[in-house]
Formats: sequence, structure tokens, C-alpha cells
Amino acid sequence: MSASEESSVDCVVAGAGVIGLAVARALALRGREVLVLEATGLVGSDTSARNSEVIHAGIYYAPGTLKARLCVAGRDALYAYCAERSIPHRRCGKLIVAASAAETDRLAAIDAHARACGVTDLEPLTGAQARALEPALSAEAALLSPYTGIVDSHALMLAYRGDLEDAGGMIAFNAPVLRGEVTANGIVLEVGGAEPMRLTCSTFVNAAGHGAVPLARAIAGIPAETIPPAYFCKGSYFTLSGRAPFSRLVYPVPEQAGLGVHLTLDLGGQARFGPDTEWIDAPNYDVDPARGDTFYAAIRRYWPALPDGALNPAYAGIRPKIVPAGARAADFRIDGPAEHGVPGLVQLFGIESPGLTASLAIADRVAEKLA
Ligand SMILES: Cc1cc2nc3c(=O)[nH]c(=O)nc-3n(C[C@H](O)[C@H](O)[C@H](O)COP(=O)(O)OP(=O)(O)OC[C@H]3O[C@@H](n4cnc5c(N)ncnc54)[C@H](O)[C@@H]3O)c2cc1C
Repeated sequence: MSASEESSVDCVVAGAGVIGLAVARALALRGREVLVLEATGLVGSDTSARNSEVIHAGIYYAPGTLKARLCVAGRDALYAYCAERSIPHRRCGKLIVAASAAETDRLAAIDAHARACGVTDLEPLTGAQARALEPALSAEAALLSPYTGIVDSHALMLAYRGDLEDAGGMIAFNAPVLRGEVTANGIVLEVGGAEPMRLTCSTFVNAAGHGAVPLARAIAGIPAETIPPAYFCKGSYFTLSGRAPFSRLVYPVPEQAGLGVHLTLDLGGQARFGPDTEWIDAPNYDVDPARGDTFYAAIRRYWPALPDGALNPAYAGIRPKIVPAGARAADFRIDGPAEHGVPGLVQLFGIESPGLTASLAIADRVAEKLA
């Protein structure tokens, strides 16, 4: 490798999304010297800025998986952290709506599944009970999740960044990790950007989101068979003109790769619908206005009065999948030395939803793997 400047640092975290920031914060609070290297000029400008900002209760994941456990642990930690740090959030609750008799049977299965994941507060509602809460709703039956909420993800990331910097950590922007090498003296990284450098660290956390798989492949000495493939599943959102007649989040019963076209609210009360699912070959964030046609049909199953022409293309996010379309959902991969054999290395792969909710718990898990 060749680069202009050489230095060393205790811990390097690649990626200043919500996960990299949470991990860097956790390590700095444990007294480690931490440098975050971020490829762009901003914190949280990729997937962490392109999601639903929902604090998930932990209903859908396979019991015992990291997704299930870290969602439940993470949401409790996140609510406490938001309250302590005055981060805008609201425990608004959500309704999972059965639009037909066939879907009503699935609600009971969702409730049983949630209980197996430790989520015991779902309330089965009749259609009439659901409409008493949300009069605009059309529902055969519903499940109320009182613990689901929303959070200002940018305020959250600013708080993580503040904690990191207060504990002595730093972020270098426009500093992509280009490649690296595992050596006997630590992990050597080649960093690009305006001020290229060569850094040696004893601990390296690959939290590069969509960049995590290509970055892992570019580090010599990481066993290739421990690096998963990368797939991209895009989710487009449409916003509603005018105010939505709902105060809770509204979800249909879930589909295979996502949770179905659902209604979420931001903290200003703006309603958005999505994300849908579209498997793509390479990342792009264009929102095709034509996809709105399928949104109208999906939304009118639970909100028949959605006016024509009320949806506007908004933004898209891309789920960092590690299994292809049609495969059973993969768990989060938080790979430490026990998984790949490289001392001081943790790699995070497939950190799709509920990564935002679970961010504090994921960070604790990474810190434990490095302890
Ligand atoms: C459509 C959608 C909806 C979602 N909704 C929710 C939700 O409602 N609730 C929830 O809990 N979760 C949700 N999620 C999941 C959540 O958004 C993610 O789990 C989380 O944002 C992932 O954060 P991250 O830090 O891993 O990745 P990112 O936010 O993508 O951050 C990765 C960072 O790494 C940087 N980077 C990349 N390569 C390099 C490199 N080589 N060197 C240095 N830096 C690099 C990138 O620039 C980026 O800033 C959703 C996800 C999607 C796609």
C-alpha cells in the first residue's frame, strides 16, 4: 500500500451512520481512543437518513435471533436515552390491520409470534374497536402495539456524535477507507480523500452500511468465506398532501421482504407511505412516480377514503440485504474474532430494520465482542 501520511490510533470505526456513531460512542465511553472515518461530508446521510424513523416494538423477527433480542433491548434503551437527552420522539403506538377475514387469522399468529419474542403487550381489537381509535380506518380486526413509536433520527445521531466527541472521540469526513491489511501489529488501513493517510489500529469496526461488504473484500487477511454477498432491496416512499386523519402508525399484515406499504408519521404530523420492495442490481435512490399506482391500491385496503392524486413521490432507502430475493430473512451479522479469526475486528453486515431501533444494543454487542 502507498499513501502520504502514516499514523496509528487505538480504534477506527468505518462509517458515520447511526450504527457507526453508536458503536464509536460506546467504545469512547469505555475509555477507548476512537476515530470514525466517514466517506462523505456528513453524518448519517445514507440508509440512516432514508428510513421510516420508527421505534419498533420487536414483533416480527424470528425468536432468539439478534434482530429479535437487540430490537427489544434497543428500543428500551432508546426510549430511556431519548427521554434523558430530550431527543424528539413519541410513543404513538401502531395498528396492524387485517383488511379481510383471511388476514384476521394471521393477526393471532403475529400476536403469538410477538409473545415468543418477549413482546407481550399487543392488544387484539375488533374492527369496531380499531375504528373507535382511528375513525378513518377500514379493518376487519387489528392488533394495537402501544409501545411502537417514532424518533427524530437526525437528532439521535447528533446526540451520539456529541457523546462521542465529549468522550474524546473524533470523526474525519471525506475520508473513505479504501483498503487494508491484517498484520501482526494490527490492522493497517489506507484512507482516501483530500488528505490520504495510512493508519494502523488495534481495533477496527466495519460499520460502513452498503459499503461494508466491498470494504471487507478490500482488506487482505479477512477470510473470504466469512464475507457475505450483498443484495439491494429498495423501498420507495410517497408523502401525503394535506393532513392524514390518523394519530397512530398503520401497518398492513407483513409481506415477505418488508412490512408492507404502511403509514408512518413524522414528529411534525406529516404522513408518509412506504416503503415498498423492489430488488435492484445497484444502489440508486430515484423514486419512480409510477410506483404510486400500486400504493393507492395497497393503502385503500385500510384507508378507502385516500383521495386521488394525494400521494407525492418522496424518497427511497435501500435495505442492505445479505440473502437474495425469495430467501428467508437473514439475521443481523455482527462478526467478531470468534466468527472470522481476526483479533480486534468486528464487521456488521445486513443491518437493515430494526437497526435504528436497536442501535444502542448493537453498539453494546460490538463492545462486548471487543472486550
Ligand atoms: C427503507 C428502510 C426503512 C427502514 N426503517 C426503519 C425503521 O423504521 N426503524 C428502524 O429501526 N430501522 C429502520 N431501517 C433500518 C435502519 O435505517 C438501518 O438499520 C440503519 O440506518 C443502518 O445504519 P448504518 O450506520 O449501518 O448504515 P448507513 O446509515 O448507511 O451508514 C453507513 C455509513 O458508512 C459510510 N461508508 C460507506 N463505505 C465507507 C468506507 N469505505 N469508508 C468510510 N465510510 C464508508 C457511508 O457513507 C455511510 O455514512 C430502515 C431501513 C430501510 C432501508
